[in-house]
Amino acid sequence: MKKIAVIGAGLTGATAAAKLVQQGFQVTVFDKGRSAGGRMSSKRTEQGYLDMGAQYFTARSDAFKQQVQQWLEAGQAEVWPCTTALLCNEDGVVSLKSSKDEQRRFIGVPSMQSPVKALLQDIALNTGCRIQKLSYQRQSWSLLSDEGKTYTGFDAVLLTLPPVQVQQLMAQSSLPEVFDTAANLLEPCWAVAMQAEASPAGDAIFCQHPKLRFISHQQYKSGRNCCYILHFNAAFSAEHLQQSADFWFAEATAVLRDELNIKQAIEPLVAHRWLYASQNDQITAPGCIALPDQQLWAGGDWSYGGRVENAYLAGLALAQAVIDSHNLVQESA
Ligand SMILES: Cc1cc2nc3c(=O)[nH]c(=O)nc-3n(C[C@H](O)[C@H](O)[C@H](O)COP(=O)(O)OP(=O)(O)OC[C@H]3O[C@@H](n4cnc5c(N)ncnc54)[C@H](O)[C@@H]3O)c2cc1C
Repeated sequence: MKKIAVIGAGLTGATAAAKLVQQGFQVTVFDKGRSAGGRMSSKRTEQGYLDMGAQYFTARSDAFKQQVQQWLEAGQAEVWPCTTALLCNEDGVVSLKSSKDEQRRFIGVPSMQSPVKALLQDIALNTGCRIQKLSYQRQSWSLLSDEGKTYTGFDAVLLTLPPVQVQQLMAQSSLPEVFDTAANLLEPCWAVAMQAEASPAGDAIFCQHPKLRFISHQQYKSGRNCCYILHFNAAFSAEHLQQSADFWFAEATAVLRDELNIKQAIEPLVAHRWLYASQNDQITAPGCIALPDQQLWAGGDWSYGGRVENAYLAGLALAQAVIDSHNLVQESA
């Protein structure tokens, strides 16, 4: 049986791993985080989860629609019954309008990473394990973790990390450079959770704003702490990347007071910095990357334009590449 190492337990890695196991491959998944989920992770608090990364997902392709349907039936996802609004701030002139659409938006339950965990349910998963070096000798991969542990005997490796992290791992392993634009493909985002006892003007507030890209309210998300989550846009997050949580709490408070007009007490909860959050839409998505001679493939949401659905599609594509390559060897043997 072919042994495959999947590095990264976000939705891309989980999807690829699940599909490969279904096809009879022996798969081990590695992630540096404390649990699976990656950028779909929610932070656990006594009052419920805080979705610090992805807020919801949509499903447009047949493949992802089918997967979402399975999650819905298994109670691992639900429709988010959100009201949508648009916050504009042009040259200091603020307007907040409702902006209805027909889009169905989904969330994981009880947290955003629940669907990822469901995919990985019966698959060997090493969390808290950052892979820092790969080596390929006599058609077999070895992985070295930053704690000095070595994992050996893999026939193929899938890297499902953000491009900068793929690039770093490739460089540390003396493997070829595979990106021209790795550094700019995913942009940063500061995410801030804030409590306020006020009815929100919308649950999903899209922002055309000098500092913000999205504000969500978690009142209609099962299992969540009932609060606001503010996502600052890439330009503002990058400009103040090294600022402390207090800076972000002050910025978030000012937005809630001055632009959403909240008079009640506001309490800061959590501020989280994502170095590689979402796709820079000025750069063409590179697709998945293949080094078939070395049995190494890399991909992620960034392969097809960012977002949860594209992570799923990248996971399917990576698994299919391994299956095709395996079939080719079988046929020519
Ligand atoms: C703030 C924010 C808001 C977002 N909002 C939305 C939204 O509303 N809707 C939407 O569709 N999408 C949204 N997204 C994007 C969505 O979260 C991603 O598209 C998707 O989760 C990416 O999945 P992935 O598996 O490709 O990558 P990731 O989830 O990033 O998974 C990569 C994994 O690799 C691990 N890793 C990295 N380096 C190593 C290493 N050396 N060794 C081991 N493990 C390693 C990481 O810990 C991580 O778990 C948002 C993202 C962010 C950050």
